[in-house]
Amino acid sequence: MVQKIALEEHFLAPGHETYWRTTVGNVDPKHAANLLAKLTDFGEMRLKSMDEAGIARSVLSIAGPSVQIERDVATARRVAREANDFLAREIQKRPDRYSGFAHLAVQDPRGAADELERCMRDLKFCGAMINGHTLGQYLDHPSLYPFWERAEALGAPIYIHPTDPITPAPALEGVHGLRRATWEWGFETGSHALRLVFSGLFDRFPRAKVVLGHLGETLPFLLWRFDSRAKLYGVKLAKPPSEYIKHNIVVTTSGMCSAEPLDCSLAALGHDRVMFAADYPFESAQEAGEFLDRVPLAEPLRTDIASGNAKKYLGL
Ligand code: ZN
Repeated sequence: MVQKIALEEHFLAPGHETYWRTTVGNVDPKHAANLLAKLTDFGEMRLKSMDEAGIARSVLSIAGPSVQIERDVATARRVAREANDFLAREIQKRPDRYSGFAHLAVQDPRGAADELERCMRDLKFCGAMINGHTLGQYLDHPSLYPFWERAEALGAPIYIHPTDPITPAPALEGVHGLRRATWEWGFETGSHALRLVFSGLFDRFPRAKVVLGHLGETLPFLLWRFDSRAKLYGVKLAKPPSEYIKHNIVVTTSGMCSAEPLDCSLAALGHDRVMFAADYPFESAQEAGEFLDRVPLAEPLRTDIASGNAKKYLGL
């Protein structure tokens, strides 16, 4: 079993359950209760699951959407900060097993930049996870430039996590099975990342670092097409879109236990741009671990995906 660092592993802090409940409205209550028990546990259950999957270290992040749906800015700022302090205390109890991503209220871009800096400098977090759009605003919005400026200066990776769109796409209407993780979140989150590319954000902040789960939310599969259409449509960027995706974006294996998209991501982005994640407790850590243990790969590459790339990228 290869030793792993897992990058998309979730928890809930006190006061954040109400936000999270919005995501389990039509989930079997027993299943939801089981998820809640796992999200709020930092002991036996989580560590057992990590051990079974060969996960030496989990980089913990709050389960979405949390303050990304908080309408009161002062409340968003306060509860995000409280969640970060709570996580830091849990990490202090098991510094050998846990690291953290900051939770940020980007409703207040300068406040979010300050909190990111505090989390990186004082709490020794690895970057931040933003749970998709914040009340419909995406991270390419010009008001967020001060935030990106600071993230770039800090070298902080910003992990963009899936969330529900504000308005479901008409193409999915009436087909419940296509909502959320099946297809909707991939399109939503891939689009979010592409907004960063196509808005020229990475021309403005060339050292900005973005992480996507689910082996890049289909982006690695479509690089040629992005370049071809950007040229045809006269998109004004310093480089072809694929260059930013290869340079500014890295991906994790969260929720993707399949060799073909892994091979595609490795071929499209490079061997140092793919890292392991399980998405505990929403996916089986054991299944994710076994997949990486068994998928046909040269052993040095397996080790790099399992932990080597994350050590370098996150400075662990
Ligand atoms: Zn997740």
